[in-house]
This record gives sequence, structure tokens and C-alpha cells, in this order.
Amino acid sequence: MTVRTRFAPSPTGYLHIGGVRTALFCWLFARRHGGQFILRIDDTDQQRNVEEALAPILHGLKWLGIDWDEGPEVGGPYAPYYQSQRLDRYRAAVEKLLAGGHAYHDYATPEEIQAERKAAEAEKRIFTYSRRFLAETPADCARFEAEGRKGVVRLKMPREGKLVLDDLVRGRVEFNWANEQDHVVQRADGSCLYHLANVVDDEDFHISHVIRAEEHLSNTPRQVFLIQALGYNLPQYAHLPFVAEPGSKNKLSKRKLDKYLKNKDFAQLVEHGNKILHAIGEEKPPELLNPVMVDFYESVGYLPEAIVNYLTLLGWSWDDKTEQFTREELIEKFSLDRVNKAPASFDPKKLLAFQLRHMQVLPVEQKVPLVLPYLQKAGLLSEQPNKLDFGKVAAVVRAAGDRIKVAGDVLDFPEFFVSDEQLVVDPDARGKAFGKPEAVDLLKKWLEILQTVKPFDDPTLEKRLHEFVAAEGIKIGQIIHPLRVALTGKAVGLGLFDTFAILGRLVSMSRIKRTLRSIESMPL
Ligand code: GLU
Repeated sequence: MTVRTRFAPSPTGYLHIGGVRTALFCWLFARRHGGQFILRIDDTDQQRNVEEALAPILHGLKWLGIDWDEGPEVGGPYAPYYQSQRLDRYRAAVEKLLAGGHAYHDYATPEEIQAERKAAEAEKRIFTYSRRFLAETPADCARFEAEGRKGVVRLKMPREGKLVLDDLVRGRVEFNWANEQDHVVQRADGSCLYHLANVVDDEDFHISHVIRAEEHLSNTPRQVFLIQALGYNLPQYAHLPFVAEPGSKNKLSKRKLDKYLKNKDFAQLVEHGNKILHAIGEEKPPELLNPVMVDFYESVGYLPEAIVNYLTLLGWSWDDKTEQFTREELIEKFSLDRVNKAPASFDPKKLLAFQLRHMQVLPVEQKVPLVLPYLQKAGLLSEQPNKLDFGKVAAVVRAAGDRIKVAGDVLDFPEFFVSDEQLVVDPDARGKAFGKPEAVDLLKKWLEILQTVKPFDDPTLEKRLHEFVAAEGIKIGQIIHPLRVALTGKAVGLGLFDTFAILGRLVSMSRIKRTLRSIESMPL
């Protein structure tokens, strides 16, 4: 049997973290078994422009490297893969259900159904529709229609016995047919309902494994009924636990941002992202800057590999210790029997830790192209960087090491990319560094040394600075702090000798001179 899985998003305009996790598991499972991963678009209830609302979803999947073998853009042998283009298939299925006696025309009004439901509640029994307005013949239909009633098609669901299924994640699951209703499959206007479309598509696309979110478990009995009534092949089911909110077991939702912002780690994640987006002029209103959506991570510079790794571990484990996996390792190791039944909470801190680990294994030359667009968007680097620019970016990335956790963090070091005139000086840092009377004098003396240091490199500068400190009988901080503020405008930053090396002798000296001039003309 060929493994064929599908991810079936509705075009909502965004890609939810929980949705990606489902897509990822479908994709990993298909790749693991050399099968196919299909993207189907559930757009029958779509009011908005489908292409527009789908674009961010396709983009997000591509960014994460979750490629599909059949579906939008790529087509495939069972096209179309959009539900809105498959309505005739669904209507044909309704006809087949009616012909087989598995569905019936029904003319009850919603009020009549509601009245029966209420009566059942009052008598504390399970509601089962009386089928009072079931029309058996065209003459029955005509009679009801003459009364002004509108007909729907309902499933003639079993009312006794059990459905037993082996779910690949949840194990054996049982459903009592008595708890099911005669679900509507076709509305009065002739449109078909989602569950019917779902099973028709799964059959037409030869889906072998339906891997989807747990909330669809309760839909499974009616879908299995449809599959059996239509004589389709029963796929294997795997219902995945949902991705839960930080610190709780409730489902993660894009609408509860206010609540999540009370969680310290989540708030930090947003703040971190916002700072980066602010620096590149793409700051978003809070409802759009939402880490529940994948777009957030791309815009602030996370690595798709880190997201893929983290999200896979959110619900699946290989053993109780290994956490870091490459994409290839995940494909090799992934299996549904190691998916947890319990929901796993989305943990922003842990995600950042995964991100850092994936950054740590990237060589500097691979980080440079990732950080460049941030510097360009922030106006710190030209659109056509030259060799020198590349060299400088690489030097900053190398010196910053783990301080660049996401690509956008490179914007923490604008001091290396601005002219002396543009350097922003933090007044607090300046006040502290030059509050001591000896600071100016020390800086002047060090400037003299700087002029002659040869070669102008890390070990030589370090050696000379230590000699200077000894000769002046001062503590190293007394020179380091003023120097750092003079060179970078701030109190914390990259290592001092890295800073010298990146700025070079000329710029280092000119920044020190400017600082001295500004202090002398504007005493603290
Ligand atoms: N469109 C459905 C959803 O987004 C997919 C349901 C299914 O996988 O069966 O949840």
C-alpha cells in the first residue's frame, strides 16, 4: 500500500502553529514511508478571495520546507484539489447515498427539530429525530413542498450498536451509534456539507492515513458511516493531541493573545519580535504580531529547521533525552506510535532554546545571508553590499556568537554599520562612563597608544591595554567602560577587542576623538 496523507486547511489568511504541527506530522509520515503528501483546500464556505487567503498558508508551508506532492500550484493526477471545484462529485455521492437507502429527504423545519430536541432534554433521554418528515417518494416530496417546506438530505444513521476503531495515536476508540444524529449532508439550497466532502475527497485522492487534529475525533463516526455507505475504503485514522497554550492544557488559539501576554515567556517572545520589527519599520499591531501564527517566526528571523524540530517534539518523542534532530533524522525516525495522547503546551522559551541550538551549528557564512536582509531593511547596509560589507557582517556575526539567536538580533549592533555622526549615544551610559574625572585623561592617553599599535589586532591590543592599566595603576574597568561607550555609544555590546577589530583603527580613533570633543564642549 502506498502511504498517502493530506493536510486540508481552510483558506483563513494565516498559518496557525497547531495547523503546522498537523501538516508536519502528515508530511513526516508520508516522507518516512516514501509516500505522498497532498494539500487539499477546504474552501466550500469561503466568502473571501480564496487565492489571497491561501497565499500565506502556502508561503508558510514552503518556508518550513513542508513540500506537497499534489495540490495547489503543483496539480496532480486527482485534480482539482479545491473543494469548491468538486461540488459535482459531492452531489453524485448524495445521489448514491439516497439510492442505497443510506440517506433520505427530510422536510422538518429547524423549529420542529428543535422542539423534538427540547422534549428529549426534558425527558432526560438522548435526542433521536423521529423522522416524521422523511419523504420516501417523489410524491411525498411534492406534498411537503406544496406546504412550503424545504427539503434537506439526512443520513439514515444506525441507532444501535457501536463503532470500534483502532486509532494509530489513541488506540482503540469506541462510539455508540445512539449518540449520533441523522446528520444533514445536503442543505435545502443543494449545497453539500463538509463531512461528506471530506470523505469523498479522501476516497478520490486515495488517502491511506487521515492524520488530523483531535477535535475531529467526534466527527469520525459520521464519516465512517459515510465511507461504509458509499462503499469506500476506510483509511487509517490518527488523531493528534492539540497544541496547548503556554502553561495550560487548553487549545492554543490566535484569539487569546491578551491572555497569553500575561505569561512572562510569551510576553518576552512578542517583545523580542516587536523590537526587531520596529527596527526594520515593520512593526505590526498586536493582533497581527502573533506568535500563534507562523508568519511571526519568519518575519523576525527564526530558522525553519528550528521550528520544524520544536514542533515535531511538541507531541512526538524519539526517546526521553534526544531533542535535537535534523529534518533528515526526523524523516528517518518519525512514527505515529510515538505520538503522545496528551496535549503538549507551546513553550516560547523552549522554542528559543531550539532556535539557538540550530543557530549554533550553522557556520558564520550561512548566517550572513540570513542577517543581511535585516540590516538592509533597517537602512544599515546598502542593497548591493560589497565585499567589505560582507566581511564586516561576518565579523559582527562571529563576534556576537550566541547573542544572535534569531537573524533579526543582528540589529542589536547597529554601531558597526553607522557613520560616526549617526552613532546613537546612550546618555545614561555616557554619564556613567565619564562621571569619573580621570576618564577623559585616560582616554586621551589611550588614544596616543592606539595611533601606534602594530599590528592593530586582538592579541596586540589586549596586551597593550593590560600594560596601560598596569602603568597607570588603574582597574581595567576604568578604561574599558569609557572606551566602550566612546566606540559604540552604549554600555554593553561585543567584546572590546572585537569591537576595535571590526571598526578598525581609523574609525576607533575618530569615535574616541569625537567623544572627547563632545565631553569637553558639553561637560557632564
Ligand atoms: N479543514 C479541516 C480542518 O482544518 C480538516 C479536517 C480533516 O482533516 O479531516 O480542521
